Amino acid sequence: MLSYEQARNKVIEEVGKRRGTRPSAVVSVLEALGLVLAQEVKTDREYPPFDRSTRDGYAVRSNDAVPGAQLKCVGEIKAGDTVREALTAGTCLQIMTGAAVPAGADAVVMIEQTSRQGDLVRFERATQRGQNIVPKGSEAAAGQTILMRGMRLGYAELALAAQVGAVNLQCAKRPRVAILSTGDEVVLIDQTPGEFQIRNSNSVSLAAQVRIAGGEPVVLGNAADRIEDLGEKIERGLKEDALVLSGGVSMGKYDLVESALKAMGAEFFFDAVAIRPGRPAVFGTCQGKPVFGLPGNPVSTMVTFELFVAPAIDLLSGAEARALPLVEARLGEAMNEKPGLTHFLPARVEWRGAVTEVKALKWQGSGDITALSKANCFLVVPADREKVEIGENVSVLLRKDIV
Ligand code: AMP
Ligand code: MG
Repeated sequence: MLSYEQARNKVIEEVGKRRGTRPSAVVSVLEALGLVLAQEVKTDREYPPFDRSTRDGYAVRSNDAVPGAQLKCVGEIKAGDTVREALTAGTCLQIMTGAAVPAGADAVVMIEQTSRQGDLVRFERATQRGQNIVPKGSEAAAGQTILMRGMRLGYAELALAAQVGAVNLQCAKRPRVAILSTGDEVVLIDQTPGEFQIRNSNSVSLAAQVRIAGGEPVVLGNAADRIEDLGEKIERGLKEDALVLSGGVSMGKYDLVESALKAMGAEFFFDAVAIRPGRPAVFGTCQGKPVFGLPGNPVSTMVTFELFVAPAIDLLSGAEARALPLVEARLGEAMNEKPGLTHFLPARVEWRGAVTEVKALKWQGSGDITALSKANCFLVVPADREKVEIGENVSVLLRKDIV
């Protein structure tokens, strides 16, 4: 049986092999958060476009502004002012943050390090050449590529695009991910379940996870545990860029997802992973599309999505697969788990000063969404560990939707 790392690498390898170029569209920078860039962005001029003061203070010649010197202030430069005249020896100019440093000046002295009487400014410290000035062109040259194809657009990338005037960006379209739940016991969320039925919460969590991963969810509803119904709905799902099913992948008599997929020509790369929850997770391709069969217990569905489906959506978006958001934390309470499988347990990580501490939450197993709603991470207990002691370092998989 594959470890979760091996299974994840398999997904990355196989989806990576098959992905074509993503169709793209032009999107305003105000709407492009989280999208993947399908063009290069170059600067329109040097950055900064002029020698820029980083402080409110005085523009000086560093040789003039020595300890005890008094220089006559002959004017002021505000941010945005056009600066044409050079600073003459023996004088200084008051200057604001973001303003252009005049020719002749080679340093800016913070206002806090000066005292002033009338026109005379007194300097107390030695002045270094270049201090508090960002030289023209030092952040980026004119025409330099600053954003690459395949980069994900976060707030900093969007601000950078806006800075250089690239206010409309060619972005990859979000991959469309079909979501199909299965199970005779499952009713749609707007229906009232019978005594022994349950609402289709998996389609809701999956749609949210698809969105966070950068995909466009296409919720197809629920298929009964019958080959014909499964086949029909899988067929529909295969029209999208990827298909994610929940339920029907265990060993039960009515777990028919693999058979239904096989009947439609699927090729499987794994159908079990050494994890708990989520062991029966299935990954394959069917008619050229990546297909995931995730176990139906809600927490299993959520964990296996994060481990295996999220990197596929990255790749289908035209980006590289992002690493799992694992962090290290100190275990706050001893644990005892069955060895052999890597456990992903609902847990709470707390940041207390320099210490990151995590404790597993009490739960009733992989159907317990109530417990998961109190968790902000999954505590990862490696397959070769039975006991983990308080104070040991453990890995934690952050719930990136809420942390
Ligand atoms: P399965 O993987 O099909 O054996 O499903 C395991 C359990 O997960 C079922 O017995 C249900 O309790 C639960 N389950 C399956 N599908 C869903 C769903 N769409 N929404 C919520 N819970 C589900
Ligand atoms: Mg089922």
